[in-house]
Amino acid sequence: MAKPEDMYQCQTVNCGCIYDPDRGDRRGKVPKGTLFDALHENWCCPVCGASKKAFKPLAGQGSVVEIQK
Ligand SMILES: [Zn+2]
Repeated sequence: MAKPEDMYQCQTVNCGCIYDPDRGDRRGKVPKGTLFDALHENWCCPVCGASKKAFKPLAGQGSVVEIQK
């Protein structure tokens, strides 16, 4: 089970897709167990096509929770 720090959520409007390293990304040919940090910099959101920069971790520094404070 991935830690919240390792799970990243897409922050674009109407998306909210979560990248879970336990699942990887079948459409982007990312194998299970790949950490978000290890994704290719050209990887993009499988749902809306946003770049990696649009993603924020669910916990920890710079996380979604911190932004909402
Ligand atoms: Zn997205």
